[in-house]
Amino acid sequence: MVSRRGSETKAIVCVLTDRIRISNQWVSHLSFAGLLGVAGFVFAQQHGLFRNLNNLKLFSGREKDSGDDSFLVPGLQNLGNNCFLNVILQALASCKDFRSFLQWVLEDARGSLAGEQEEQLPLTFALSALLQELGTVGSRRSVSNPRKVMVTLTDYAKNFNLTSQQDAAEALLHLISSLQEEIVVCYRPSQSSNLSDILFSRNLRMLAPSEGLHGLMELKRWHKHLRGPFDGILGSTLMCRTCSSQISLEFQFFHTLPLSPLLHHGGYNIMSGCTLEHCLKKFLNTEKVENYFCYRCWHGAALKYLSVIGAAETEIEKLRSCGGEDQCDCKTSLHLQRMPWSNSYSHILKQLIIARFPKLLCIQVQRASFNMFEEFKLSGHIAFPLVLNLSLFTPSSIGVNIEERIEMSSEYQKPEASKNHGMYRLVTVVEHFGRTGSGHYTVYRSVRVFSQEEEEEDCDEDLSWFSISDSEVCRVSESDVLGAEASLLFYERL
Ligand SMILES: [Zn+2]
Ligand SMILES: [Zn+2]
Repeated sequence: MVSRRGSETKAIVCVLTDRIRISNQWVSHLSFAGLLGVAGFVFAQQHGLFRNLNNLKLFSGREKDSGDDSFLVPGLQNLGNNCFLNVILQALASCKDFRSFLQWVLEDARGSLAGEQEEQLPLTFALSALLQELGTVGSRRSVSNPRKVMVTLTDYAKNFNLTSQQDAAEALLHLISSLQEEIVVCYRPSQSSNLSDILFSRNLRMLAPSEGLHGLMELKRWHKHLRGPFDGILGSTLMCRTCSSQISLEFQFFHTLPLSPLLHHGGYNIMSGCTLEHCLKKFLNTEKVENYFCYRCWHGAALKYLSVIGAAETEIEKLRSCGGEDQCDCKTSLHLQRMPWSNSYSHILKQLIIARFPKLLCIQVQRASFNMFEEFKLSGHIAFPLVLNLSLFTPSSIGVNIEERIEMSSEYQKPEASKNHGMYRLVTVVEHFGRTGSGHYTVYRSVRVFSQEEEEEDCDEDLSWFSISDSEVCRVSESDVLGAEASLLFYERL
């Protein structure tokens, strides 16, 4: 696991091991406190925020005892305030689909690109190598170095300073869009398809693929390159309840789902008992849109008005045959500008829907809030499940509201084939301590470990959780993980 940078990493491991061996509990407390700032640390300690500190201490005591279950994942060096990036790198290392996506891109490029991959796809190459390293479970402590990824990322995200404290969710989005930029530039259509058949529009959409199987495969390959595993699609629909029409339906890709917690009155605290399901429901709930003009409702009202005032049959027919599109000229051509009308007749609702379940689902709990004077952080626990069923939050057809859907799904047994559709397993939790814009990030990672005997029999996997604060790694229990005040949650589709 340390072969690529053998001597360098080994040296770091030695230094860290020595430091931990000599450390008593105060040294480990103080090194942690140094990261947070003393004030934040005292606050966190008073409020019991360091459930893991005891584990960290225990861990340093357990150094010499390398028993049968003392396997570990590598930590990551902090190269100066980059804990926000380290947690993202650890999180991505836990996402099997993300690691295999990077490997697939490199593999795919091997056939079509001339020259060294390290030169052509420097960020993909560096990230893939680091994530493989972080994904390797070992029996000894090791610490990996994120420097190469940081250097290559800086070339793309020039305005994103990686050495001053940043938001972890923002770092993830920068990393994804930088990768996208690199991968798209290096994309070459496969030899079997004709380059002239493939046109790219400015917004990175492939237009008019060549016909037949090759064209379809090329399109799939292009989408896979472009979107990666964070490939969810969010639909946004506007409906008019008054005339039961759909005004608009738009789709967009999403990398993360930003969910706001439920708040107590006043909006300074997260409501006790708030769950991730509550937040999802709130996010996907219909909301009333004010001051929006429904053309179909207007046409209905205009038809009644013309009949009442005894207008000519030809005028009524013109209105009736109009599709009620927002571009029509009924208002002016029929002199209806003065018709008494208020848009409050229409009841317009907006709703977001998850139109495609992503392979990897990243949920961003929006804890940053504002009042009149300043930005503040919403702290408090939001319960989240180990297994999430996202299909419960997706209306089967537009207009069916989510509560009805939940009732429906519990009433009727789903067919066997679609049983796992929309089912997700928790793989990583990112937690933030301290104030927004400063403080410290830590991460919980789940790692699947196969013991040798099990591998021979039926490959039963053993899921272990680790708490990681930069270079410090320790094993924790599932309940430690579920107790976290999550900022980011990564779920993998089952
Ligand atoms: Zn309407
Ligand atoms: Zn019209």
